[in-house]
Amino acid sequence: MKILVVNAGSSSLKYQLFDMGKGTVLAKGNCERIGIDGRITHKRPSKEDFSASPAFPDHRAAIGYVLRLLTDPTYGVIGSVGEIAAVGHRFAHGGERLRESAVLGDEELAYLESIVGLNPLHGPPAISGFKACRAEMPSVKHVGVFDTSYYSSLPDYAYIYPLPYELYEEKKIRRYGFHGTSHRYVAGKAQELLGDPNAKIVTCHLGNGASITATVNGKAVDTSMGFTPQDGVPMGTRSGALDPTVVTYIMRECGLTAEETEKLLNEKSGLLGVSGVSSDCRDVEEAAAKGNMRASLAMRILVHNVKKLIGAYYAEMNGIDALVFTAGIGENDRALRAEVCGGLSALGISVDEAVNATCPRGEICDISGKNARARTFVIPTNEEYMIARDTLALV
Ligand code: ADP
Repeated sequence: MKILVVNAGSSSLKYQLFDMGKGTVLAKGNCERIGIDGRITHKRPSKEDFSASPAFPDHRAAIGYVLRLLTDPTYGVIGSVGEIAAVGHRFAHGGERLRESAVLGDEELAYLESIVGLNPLHGPPAISGFKACRAEMPSVKHVGVFDTSYYSSLPDYAYIYPLPYELYEEKKIRRYGFHGTSHRYVAGKAQELLGDPNAKIVTCHLGNGASITATVNGKAVDTSMGFTPQDGVPMGTRSGALDPTVVTYIMRECGLTAEETEKLLNEKSGLLGVSGVSSDCRDVEEAAAKGNMRASLAMRILVHNVKKLIGAYYAEMNGIDALVFTAGIGENDRALRAEVCGGLSALGISVDEAVNATCPRGEICDISGKNARARTFVIPTNEEYMIARDTLALV
């Protein structure tokens, strides 16, 4: 059975076509500059990549092009669109109601449209991508997979903020958590590696966006991102957690509007804000290695905050069986992994320096130190496969 996975952003549409029987990716690609001009890169295993610059006025034009490409005699991988059994769509936010992956009908669409205020950046393009795909493929089932749904298992004391309770009831202000599909995937892999479905696992998704999640018995019990992805550890351009009064003080002192303040917190803070060099971890580390003190400080703040949350989740779960690193930084940055795990021997966590330093890119590695009580794994994330798996399960 073939499942198409779609991840629509404001000016992009990423796709992967899975053959679920064989567990392989037949083709994948990215439509970029939608609404501007248009560019597509299309990849198939062991075949030459295809790229072009067709006009993509909207998501509908992009998905139409992708379907023609997938069935093209030269660049295609299927005979007809009819071979696609279902489409899985990535949504960052499922609100309080979409607590698990679901077949998307008019009711679900209306609900997703009603909560775009909670998710103004990702909601509208994801909805527009879904509508475009449904218009192009009206006869197959479309499934929504929501980053927030992994967190429907959080206990109330972990998701309710200590604010006037009416703000939760009336405005739905609560911790939602994000990156759930990635945390669910790597936590599941860690359970398999441990052979223990009840394991206590801390997963560190450290990419341009970063979040940390605690999972017990296959269910998330806490996570660092909150009402928005802004909470938790510092990221490429986001501050992560702050004393909330810093925000209102900045607004008053610097004369910024709410929008300007959000921009400062979301786009000008984190690694970029502290280092003044770049939001990209590699650039910041390179500058730090050359003696740039602010770049070095940015990295030390990141390590400090990741460590602090690992300790918090150890306390919440009364132990950790596995610590997992994933996403761009987690999968590739050996030095950062070693620094995060350094000084955690009291928690039973340590890293084998040699194994950590030689973990091949894109592979699962057990980098645990010899006498560690907890395993430390590097596990490449695969959100698209998770979306395809959920989609298959629902059709
Ligand atoms: P996104 O959140 O955009 O999906 P990714 O998961 O692709 O982000 O992660 C991007 C981050 O990973 C960037 O900060 C990049 O510098 C970092 N990264 C990628 N490779 C390495 C590496 N070898 N060493 C350090 N950081 C890396």
